[in-house]
Amino acid sequence: MKKFLCLAAAALLVFSGCRAENKKSENSQASKDVFAMDTYMNLKAYGENSEAALEAAADEITYLDELLSVTNNNSDIWKINNSAGNSVSVNNDTAEIIKKAIEIGDKTNGALDITIYPILKEWGFTADDHKIPDKETLAMLLENVDYQRIKLDGSIVTVPENYQLDLGALAKGYTSDKIMEILRNNNVESAVVSLGGNVQTLGRKPDGSLWKIAVTDPFSPNSAMGIIEIENKAVITSGNYERYFIGEDGKIYHHIIDPADGYPADNGLVSVTIIGESGIMCDALSTALFVSGIENAIDHWRKNNDFDMILITDEKEIFITEGIADNFENVSEMNMEVVTKE
Ligand code: ADP
Ligand code: MG
Repeated sequence: MKKFLCLAAAALLVFSGCRAENKKSENSQASKDVFAMDTYMNLKAYGENSEAALEAAADEITYLDELLSVTNNNSDIWKINNSAGNSVSVNNDTAEIIKKAIEIGDKTNGALDITIYPILKEWGFTADDHKIPDKETLAMLLENVDYQRIKLDGSIVTVPENYQLDLGALAKGYTSDKIMEILRNNNVESAVVSLGGNVQTLGRKPDGSLWKIAVTDPFSPNSAMGIIEIENKAVITSGNYERYFIGEDGKIYHHIIDPADGYPADNGLVSVTIIGESGIMCDALSTALFVSGIENAIDHWRKNNDFDMILITDEKEIFITEGIADNFENVSEMNMEVVTKE
């Protein structure tokens, strides 16, 4: 069927002659699929320059993927992780992400901690070779986990020996911010990108309406639990269903780790969706507030005015903040409560 549609579209293009190529209409659109940062990405842009703009965006993704990868031994992160306590000069992008990560670590009482890598390795999340570590090993490894010991001086990074960074919690959000910047600089006014389900939008849809973004149902990850309508914003979710394994004890162990004890966060939340203008902040907060738990997440939202959120609990309750509630349609059977500022 898809093939047939493509052929039909191609036939239409041919039918309208060479004009298709030169047509500078608002209706032209481009789409691109990229596999990077261990995930599938799709970029869509509308308007006359969309094709070239997406090319530039894809180049940026490749560049950031190489720069931030924990496994590529030319990456900035690899250099830091193998620095044996020595200072490393990194690229501005890397420095900017680390700076933001420290800032959000501070704001969330350490729920976001980018020095968590040794723990993730021990659980086998980095090599898809999962195991349940013993408590003693985790306690020992946690001695090398504390983002406050990262020294950032401009673009010089120093971490203590045996410390290792992983920017997985916020790299995709930074990348989608960069993509938006590139698209804007290429005169694109309407675009939507999905980096492994992390969505960010530019402007509105070409017809002037808001973008409709599906929010995954954590209890049935192939379907939506709701639809959110936005413009110029990111919608980024962290969930316990995204990357996990089932242990020999039959329990589910997922990849969002509580830096307080080294175990997957287990506080009643099954997903956290953050909606806001800054992709990096939304990404970092989706991970951090998943660790923080319901009360702390709501508390953090009440003290800050730059994002909204949707929390889903293991008891199938939805908490949505008031700034976005009118733009959200709950298509699930779950109960929904609106969270207000007081
Ligand atoms: P996804 O990568 O599936 O979009 P997240 O944005 O929530 O999900 O990021 C999860 C990733 O962040 C983990 O795979 C790991 O690399 C890293 N991570 C896990 N726990 C923490 C934490 N407490 N602080 C910082 N990074 C973490
Ligand atoms: Mg995140």
